Amino acid sequence: MIFLDMDGVLCDFAGGVCALFGKDAPQAGDLAQELHQHLGIAKGLMWSRIAEAGARLWEGLEPLPWADELVALVRSHGELVIATAPSLNPASLAGKLTWLQRRFGRNFRDFVVTPQKHLLAAPGRILIDDSPRHVDAFSAFGGLSTLFPSIENGLLRPDQDPVMDLRNWLKQTDRPAAE
Ligand SMILES: [Mg+2]
Repeated sequence: MIFLDMDGVLCDFAGGVCALFGKDAPQAGDLAQELHQHLGIAKGLMWSRIAEAGARLWEGLEPLPWADELVALVRSHGELVIATAPSLNPASLAGKLTWLQRRFGRNFRDFVVTPQKHLLAAPGRILIDDSPRHVDAFSAFGGLSTLFPSIENGLLRPDQDPVMDLRNWLKQTDRPAAE
């Protein structure tokens, strides 16, 4: 079973939030900084504007350029389950479900919404996520995880193909540990 994150991995959260403020999104290779710093505002103000935008912000996030390829890759390696954490605003739940239904169909049920992704960890389970916190906790609780490079975590390099890197990583995990 492979858990796949949404924001920063499948959806362009940074782009959506910056559009809300009428600003250009950070680009791959930019100095890593938090999104509110890029916007030049307080973190609390950024999140209150996101909350005001409601479900529409979340459901309207653009898929990242590699989203389809990434989903196909994950499905070729195991059972895909989307794992996403909601914001503190309840509207994010609705927006995220709408996003998933638009891309995967109305009957799509292979998802879990939780801020505590480590509770999903178990031997043989994989988490692909761009949050160091989620990745570290998932590994600490017995799963296997990999940090996906994103604009949000500052690890995406210009011209990098994150799906190719992941393909190589997944190939390694297929090998028995004894080899
Ligand atoms: Mg994320």
